[in-house]
Amino acid sequence: PARPMYAGQLPKGLQTISNIVAVSSCKGGVGKSTVAVNLAYTLAGMGARVGIFDADVYGPSLPTMVSPENRLLEMNPEKRTIIPTEYMGVKLVSFGFAGQGRAIMRGPMVSGVIDQLLTTTEWGELDYLVIDMPPGTGDIQLTLCQVVPLTAAVIVTTPQKLAFIDVAKGVRMFSKLKVPCVAVVENMCHFDADGKRYYPFGRGSGSQVVQQFGIPHLFDLPIRPALSASGDSGVPEVVADPQGEVARTFQELGVCI
Ligand code: ADP
Repeated sequence: PARPMYAGQLPKGLQTISNIVAVSSCKGGVGKSTVAVNLAYTLAGMGARVGIFDADVYGPSLPTMVSPENRLLEMNPEKRTIIPTEYMGVKLVSFGFAGQGRAIMRGPMVSGVIDQLLTTTEWGELDYLVIDMPPGTGDIQLTLCQVVPLTAAVIVTTPQKLAFIDVAKGVRMFSKLKVPCVAVVENMCHFDADGKRYYPFGRGSGSQVVQQFGIPHLFDLPIRPALSASGDSGVPEVVADPQGEVARTFQELGVCI
């Protein structure tokens, strides 16, 4: 897809990346990082050159969800650039790999840190950079979207009616920035037990999103202990079980991007 409008010149560090995909949610804890990481490893499994940028400076999940051997970002002192760490061929940058612990910062500082991490990294040639966005649609998110020429956005939500209102906010933010929302992922939508399927948070708000906003794709992810366990173990589910139901859903999502 054509690049959307963005403020200013394309930062040098991003010039060798073909597609930048934002994975976004309006609340924390809905599975945004889980989707970002599994989507990235799915694209890599399809043969693409992929990087993940964890922009969630307040609560970086990437260091928990993937387990690279080198857990600290390296600097190139001459060029004053950051060299990403890597796990299974995917390049990784997170504030959690900067050796600073969790951040207590005001918004403008956070935006500065995100901007520096993102634009001074030597990403090299990438087909996709997946950005795990900070949750919400505030100033930090807007600044990030203005610095980065996003090619697509994926919105992650849970099935409650309340979450629908949040998704609407996210869709509006991206449409203002002229970034196409290609898919909504409804996470934790059901679980199976005793041969029956249960929908603990109700049904139907996902299809409402698709109808109301014309988003072309809707994906359901079940509640699965394995998904949570793989998140904690440092090996993404799509890597641990590449033939499984979750991996198949991510492959379908991967081809929409
Ligand atoms: P967010 O990035 O939105 O804050 P995370 O991806 O970090 O959310 O997910 C929050 C927690 O829920 C993590 O421990 C993750 O492993 C778990 N989780 C996410 N999606 C599922 C799912 N479908 N089934 C089981 N656990 C999940």
